[in-house]
Amino acid sequence: MRKLAIVFVLAVFVPSLVLAWLAMRSLHDQQFVLERQQSLLYQKVADSIARDVENFLLGRQHEFAQLVEGMLPQNPMAITTNFHERIRANWPYAQVGFVVTLKGQMLSPSPASCAGFYAANATFLSSTTPSEVYWNTTKGFQQTSKAPPQKVETSQSKDTNPSFAMKTQKRSVVPQQAIAAPVAAAEDPTDSKLAPSEAEFRQIIGEQREGTLARFSDNKLNVLMWYRPPRRSDLVFGIQLALPVLIEGVKDYVQTLDAHLREEICVALLDDSAKPVARSDAKFQTNWRHPLVATEVGEELPHWEVGVYLLNPVKLTQTAQTARLTLGVLIGTLLAAIASGSWLIVHCLRKEMRLAQQKTDFVSNVSHELKTPLTSIRMFSELLAEGRVKELEKQRSYLGIITAETGRLTRLINNVLDFSHLERGEKKYHFEPCDLTEIARDTCEMYRPHLEESGFGLKCDFGAAPVRVEGDRDALAQILVNLLSNAEKYSGTSKEISVSLKGTTATDASAELTVCDRGVGVPRGSEEKIFEQFYRAHDSLSSGIQGSGLGLTLARQIARSHHGDLYYQPRDGGGSCFTLRLPTKCK
Ligand code: ADP
Repeated sequence: MRKLAIVFVLAVFVPSLVLAWLAMRSLHDQQFVLERQQSLLYQKVADSIARDVENFLLGRQHEFAQLVEGMLPQNPMAITTNFHERIRANWPYAQVGFVVTLKGQMLSPSPASCAGFYAANATFLSSTTPSEVYWNTTKGFQQTSKAPPQKVETSQSKDTNPSFAMKTQKRSVVPQQAIAAPVAAAEDPTDSKLAPSEAEFRQIIGEQREGTLARFSDNKLNVLMWYRPPRRSDLVFGIQLALPVLIEGVKDYVQTLDAHLREEICVALLDDSAKPVARSDAKFQTNWRHPLVATEVGEELPHWEVGVYLLNPVKLTQTAQTARLTLGVLIGTLLAAIASGSWLIVHCLRKEMRLAQQKTDFVSNVSHELKTPLTSIRMFSELLAEGRVKELEKQRSYLGIITAETGRLTRLINNVLDFSHLERGEKKYHFEPCDLTEIARDTCEMYRPHLEESGFGLKCDFGAAPVRVEGDRDALAQILVNLLSNAEKYSGTSKEISVSLKGTTATDASAELTVCDRGVGVPRGSEEKIFEQFYRAHDSLSSGIQGSGLGLTLARQIARSHHGDLYYQPRDGGGSCFTLRLPTKCK
């Protein structure tokens, strides 16, 4: 049995636990993949909006170039002096217009009209001092921390091989995904991919026709666009971008989101201090420095980023938790099913093994039960046949023993036969109205001589009134015979048996036939088991009492076939009482 349990644990339970663990792990991995896929999707959204903003700026840069070209046919000299006023009047994106010669002379605006601009940019634009700038040109030159440009080739001697010192800067926002995802050792997700370089305005222009550059002055972002018309390549026309107008222009890119995305995320365009300047959901509030994913717009708007925020961040973990819980419950249920299944299998196996053992005992018990009376019958009949017993008294006694042993044999064989009939469902009863008092009295009287001969006292209390039941006479008599036989077998030294019959009462339409003895009684815990086939509470070896373990099984089956029952009760003062309860036919 222990071996079987070990095999079961190793073959079923442990593999089931391992499978459950693997299922939990794969769910966890799947959850991670799902989250990653979702982040990638949102990253694409942020990238695409950042690209749109960058392209919008490029568009404005070309638009500015065309505007300047449009102004040139008129008196070029007049343009240079009042360029600031004219460009402002014609183009809302221009906050300040400026003209500077390649030699560094500022022609417009006048220091008086734009004192602030002058103070912040004059020395830089006239190329007298270098400044930290983020810049690109129409050739699409990109400065990133990944591939910082170490050299920019220009034709002029001063500008040839300028070397720009790149400074790595921290991002103003830290995307959560960048923290969660494993990154290459050299790449810090909190580092900005854009880096300013120290350069003079003249160096930046080089041989290019147009471009955009950004620089911080007093922590304030100035975005400058410049254009060098081919006809007046000695002049550089430029503007300082009006950022509020630019924001108005790019708002649409941020606000136009697919309906399904709108339900899940908020996209925001963040300025260099991580403040949202445009967002898809006007009511949404969060810690803007920690988006799920974010993309930097580019050199034209350094440290401006497009951030994506989950509208309901707990939803993702909730879904994961629900999935984990469901799987947990499923695995728990499966394990419980496996455990209860295992218990059932072990229980059934134990039962089968017990039954097999009982069957083996049964064969040996029955063989013994057959042999004992046969030996007596043979011995006494031989003595009588050989005429060796002369006294009439002895002859009568021997004949009595032969009759009793024959009766025992008959009962045993009847029980075995009946049991096999019942097992195969072949047992047929002849139901008819009968009087239980009569059956009980006849059976007792038939059995009395045998009992009295063995020194038993049999007390019968039946009353005179008939007790009407519907049943098979012989089968009902067999129940009583089996009970009397057991009372005789298990009585030990106190040899008194009583049989009583109680008929229908005013409240109960049933009869009770009870056989009591003062014997050894049924051991505790076996009260119900004694009705199981082959079960013997007092086995032959230890008690010395022979039996097949079928008598009570048969008796109860017969009782139940008659819509009644047979049950055991310990008798007050010691001994057993077995009661046959049957429904009565009428009062
Ligand atoms: P058996 O042939 O062993 O008597 P039964 O089916 O008639 O088979 O009885 C089953 C078991 O019930 C017996 O082995 C015995 O242990 C117990 N039993 C039956 N009748 C009595 C009784 N009157 N007193 C004590 N134990 C009894």
